[in-house]
Amino acid sequence: MILDIIAQQASFKGLTFVGTGDFLHPSWMKQVQAKLEIVEEGTFEHPRFGTRFILTVEVEDDRRVHHLIISPSISSAEGLYEEFSKHSKDINLDGRPSLNLSAPEIVEISRDHDCLVGPSHAFTPWTSIYKEFDSISSCYEDQVDKLAFLELGLSADTLMADRLMELESVPFLSNSDAHSPWPNKLGREFNRFELSRPVSSEMIESIREKKGISLNVGLDPKLGKYHMTACSKCYSQFLAKDAEKYGWRCKSCGGVVKKGVLDRVSELADFESPLHPDFRPDYLRIAPLSEVIALALGCSNPRSRKVRRTWNRLIEHFKDEITVLVDADLAEIEETSGPQVALIIGLFRKRQLDIDPGGGGRYGRLKIPEELIKAQRPGGQRTIAEFS
Ligand SMILES: [Zn+2]
Ligand SMILES: [Zn+2]
Repeated sequence: MILDIIAQQASFKGLTFVGTGDFLHPSWMKQVQAKLEIVEEGTFEHPRFGTRFILTVEVEDDRRVHHLIISPSISSAEGLYEEFSKHSKDINLDGRPSLNLSAPEIVEISRDHDCLVGPSHAFTPWTSIYKEFDSISSCYEDQVDKLAFLELGLSADTLMADRLMELESVPFLSNSDAHSPWPNKLGREFNRFELSRPVSSEMIESIREKKGISLNVGLDPKLGKYHMTACSKCYSQFLAKDAEKYGWRCKSCGGVVKKGVLDRVSELADFESPLHPDFRPDYLRIAPLSEVIALALGCSNPRSRKVRRTWNRLIEHFKDEITVLVDADLAEIEETSGPQVALIIGLFRKRQLDIDPGGGGRYGRLKIPEELIKAQRPGGQRTIAEFS
């Protein structure tokens, strides 16, 4: 995860802007300042690939809940570092430092430095707000009105989160925290903004004003690794009531069973089906292109050479992943990489692929629907037109 590679791979994905991550880490910030050019205060650009960056960091509070902070400038980031370093033992070591501060204290200090702050991956079962608390107000107390956003996380989407009444005035961010720079990890989730200029100050303003985010885009929550309640060792899935009965221990291997995001949302939900506030943008479900190609080619490994060859051909032709997944003409995809890939991308767009849902820390997997497998048997060939 070095800036040159992140910037290059972001352009293949189709991302204009990427969060720097880790802006409290002194040597990472040195890299940001050495490798990137300043477009204007708080907006950085990679000189070769043109990818822009905004200052972001995740921190852990004294209850092990994670919060995302977005900074408008280097001076705000430095001010925050100065303050937080008084309350952290690992701020110079860990990109996501642990702070000996409560959630309300973190919000207050961040806002004193003009930063936006909100809960990270809000529903995941390890280090999120809803793992630890039943409501945002019990976590953020008197600072709850100061939250700028809530990050949905890979295993949840707008349809799930808008079942909670307390989130009706909170903007959602669909970000994914990449730990490797390749397009099957970078930008698994992203936000589309309508801005007059692609700069950090406008992005921050539009989150603050709840009016610039025009689309949240992310994994189908079933592809997330904590969607279902499941064992964290052998990944057997359980109904929440059974898991509770067995004391959150796995019946087959004795491992710890983790409550899935779906069950957690259902527990907290005020509404049976989502109630979206007026400002809430649509949520578009996507998957990494390499996984869609792997499915089309019958490869189990989305990083295999065969998958990469097809991926390269598509990116050379269409420039970036999002275009291929969402916008490109299917006939043109067929010309570039064959009928099978075009067929699967068509099914993907119409949400006709099946998914084996993830849980317990294992990602969900895309599957070709049974009826299509039957249709593909000799004598049963069907054309793309019949499926798309
Ligand atoms: Zn985190
Ligand atoms: Zn197990």
